[in-house]
Amino acid sequence: MNYYSTNGNAPIADLHKAVVKGLAEDRGLYMPEKIKQLPKDFFDNIDKMSFQEIAYTVADAFFGEDVEADALKKIVYDTLSFDCPVVKVKDDIYTLELFHGPTLAFKDVGARFMARLLQYFIRQESSKLVNVLVATSGDTGSAVANGFLGVDGIHVYVLYPKGKVSPIQECQFTTLGKNITAIEVDGVFDDCQALVKNAFMDAELNQHMKLTSANSINVARFLPQAFYYFNAYARLKEKFNVQCSMFNELVMCVPSGNFGNICAALFGHEMGLPIARFIAANNANDIFYNYLQTGRYEPKPSKQTLANAMDVGDPSNFARIYDLYGKSHERISSLIGGATYSDEQIRQTMRQCYEETGYILDPHGACGYQALVDGLKPGEVGVFCETAHPAKFKEKVDDILGIDVDIPARLRAFMQGQKQSVPMTKDFADFKQYLMNQ
Ligand SMILES: *Cc1c(COP(=O)(O)O)cnc(C)c1O
Repeated sequence: MNYYSTNGNAPIADLHKAVVKGLAEDRGLYMPEKIKQLPKDFFDNIDKMSFQEIAYTVADAFFGEDVEADALKKIVYDTLSFDCPVVKVKDDIYTLELFHGPTLAFKDVGARFMARLLQYFIRQESSKLVNVLVATSGDTGSAVANGFLGVDGIHVYVLYPKGKVSPIQECQFTTLGKNITAIEVDGVFDDCQALVKNAFMDAELNQHMKLTSANSINVARFLPQAFYYFNAYARLKEKFNVQCSMFNELVMCVPSGNFGNICAALFGHEMGLPIARFIAANNANDIFYNYLQTGRYEPKPSKQTLANAMDVGDPSNFARIYDLYGKSHERISSLIGGATYSDEQIRQTMRQCYEETGYILDPHGACGYQALVDGLKPGEVGVFCETAHPAKFKEKVDDILGIDVDIPARLRAFMQGQKQSVPMTKDFADFKQYLMNQ
């Protein structure tokens, strides 16, 4: 399969190149040249298939031409070492729980898949160690580090701003050891990002070591997120055990920041997944919401909110959605609805949902839940993504709900680990020298 750039000024890339490069030469995002429609009998029998079987069918449609069947199957099965169950919250509202992976957020799926696909390509070309550099303000670092943990042939350097990530986030990438090195930069997130960018541009350094990124816009990180939408459909179909008309009325609601997750769901829809419509739930960063209203896409500086993983003022994957629907505002706004919530509304939603149903929402999932409460029409069935476990935001959730959220064992294990990090200044010369000595 070939991949083109959303900016239209870069050479066509094969999967190998798209995965290793991440971003096209013209700084556009890679898009697959075609999206295969899955056959009717797949959807008819999907409720009898396991999550891994479903995911492999979807993966094969995208990657089957470029990755040998056995290898692809192993990548998919290794990636999905945990479940993404659909749970009823109330009436016609269900949650797709995406937080059962190692770092308790949905990014685990994409990060684990990408690590394994990158390893597959690296093994083909050389035995030289590949170094992944990633700058993080918190959650990306943990998903990437854990996704690559123990993957042979790849070393990961996670750069994070000293004192600016929460203790729970920090322990998820500083306690791993093995092929993961945490670098604690005396600066802010932008300094970390600048160090990474400078490293990619430094000729001498690139001569010395093979460097790559694990950016969230990478096709190997975003496309695999389609897996769990197909599985959600299967598990609902299984639960109701009928050729139910509700599947014409299924609404998928995705709490969105950079719009990678919802974009994967839209790709699923293009492959035939019977979802009637989508809702992108935003926090106060309402750029997409405004686009739906006005037809104008106007990026703004991001605002800090309670649902901080969605604090994005210029969502990168908008370019993919725009391209997917031929730049048509009419097509986009008839398929996707929007919603935007202030911190105060998020708090209120979390309290109300907890009182009414006993379900503990995290601040991101709360936007999704509320968008369904506000936007579901009679006869529709809504599913929202719970994108992170509430314990990841324990201080906030405890404070808002007046409870003591249980910390899952795998998170507790991180918190008991030994923190190991390399102190670093924000001066590129120091970072370069450190890498030259590796
Ligand atoms: C990354 C993230 C989001 C936003 O996902 P996008 O793919 O960037 O839209 C939402 N919730 C949580 C918890 C996240 O970590």
